[in-house]
Amino acid sequence: MQPKNEPTFRQSVDMMFNRAVAKMDLPPGLEEKIRVCNATYTVRFGVRLRGQIQTFVGYRSVHSEHMEPVKGGIRYATEVNQDEVEALAALMTYKCALVEAPFGGSKGGLCIDPRQYEEHELELITRRFAYELAKRDLIHPSQNVPAPDMGTGEREMAWIADQYARMNTTDINARACVTGKPLNAGGISGRVEATGRGVQYALREFFRDPKGLEKAGLTGKLDGKRVIIQGLGNVGYHAAKFLSEEDGCKITGIIERDGALVNEAGLNVENVREWIVANGGVTGYPDATHHAEGAAVLGAACDILIPAALEGVINLGNAAGIQAPLIIEAANGPITAGADEILREKGIVIIPDMYANAGGVTVSYFEWVKNLSHIRFGRMQRRQEEARHQLVIDELERLDRYLGDAWSMTPEFKTKYLRGADELELVRSGLDDTMRVAYQSMRDVWHERGDVEDLRTAAYLVSITKVAASYRAKGL
Ligand code: GLU
Repeated sequence: MQPKNEPTFRQSVDMMFNRAVAKMDLPPGLEEKIRVCNATYTVRFGVRLRGQIQTFVGYRSVHSEHMEPVKGGIRYATEVNQDEVEALAALMTYKCALVEAPFGGSKGGLCIDPRQYEEHELELITRRFAYELAKRDLIHPSQNVPAPDMGTGEREMAWIADQYARMNTTDINARACVTGKPLNAGGISGRVEATGRGVQYALREFFRDPKGLEKAGLTGKLDGKRVIIQGLGNVGYHAAKFLSEEDGCKITGIIERDGALVNEAGLNVENVREWIVANGGVTGYPDATHHAEGAAVLGAACDILIPAALEGVINLGNAAGIQAPLIIEAANGPITAGADEILREKGIVIIPDMYANAGGVTVSYFEWVKNLSHIRFGRMQRRQEEARHQLVIDELERLDRYLGDAWSMTPEFKTKYLRGADELELVRSGLDDTMRVAYQSMRDVWHERGDVEDLRTAAYLVSITKVAASYRAKGL
């Protein structure tokens, strides 16, 4: 629970924005224009379920239309409220600007506990919500493109896409009205794990920045680093899985709704996930110590702390007790403005949300482009690329006959080299490049400007500069 003296989520985002903007030279009017949310729509609609009409409340907030369409997920949770969607929409604006996804920021939410409903009921509710938004152009390929967020996934996006297509039967670009769809409904390979993959790429890039590592008091590589992860949902699960299976990190703690698992030797992420799916929580998992008071584990000793669930989990109440030298915000807004200040004073380095979890929207951008171009990535080039590689291999093999055994190619090299990139590989390459370039743009500001002490401020400076430039170009 967040202490009562804490500002709201939206105020917290505004405070961080203000801190950065104070270091810029923007005309005050423009500063205000960028900060405020342009519009928030509340829709109330009824759905006949179990013999009676139930009324649902949903939101879609549009923060900035300096680029269109605006982009951002739709969240299903009982706590959804206007303040929250506005904060999340603002973060989308800054996130898209930072990673150069050509979108404005938006976010939606429906006040609902999805676990209380059957699948066919959720479909009715989702289609009705989509109808309400689509008829106001709040779902539209060139105006407003939602995506998954907490409590929603591929299934909901497929319903939304189909609902929009039914309402716009002649729109050839209908599929581009929403991203995060399943592959068979116009989705793209690698979208489900994209946010977690982005967290992995972000950490890899951070570990290529010696000055950044020094500021965090860390040395060496990701290999062997002790990681605590809060929330094993879609983002947390994939981040923890990739970091442990591919980079040698040890997942020493996993915090979930019903407590935390701790094992200094490292937890098997796949096994924990299976346990949660089968048992509804982490309680009873055999290969770890279970702590009923899960949140306390946020303060346990580790190298990297990854809050990957809700906003406000690190707040005025617990910030002073955090021991991790490096925090990467896989969730949106997990650290309140007050906590951010305390952590900064403690010398903790924070890789901010607008960068750390931008992998999702980045791959959403690729999916949107795929939908508009009506062709899978790699379809035209792949075999041509393979044929050209074959030419090189043939030529090397011809030379090989003169050079003798010492020069022959290994069969593994040949197979790897010959294979042209498929969609998944292209998506990963595009995501990796995006995460590297965006980190470098923040890093330069962080290390080179004497008045910028943290990565969050650097991230805001980079993104606000871009948003301001596009408003200026529009004549504002
Ligand atoms: N909901 C995700 C986010 O917070 C993804 C948004 C998108 O793909 O548009 O970034």
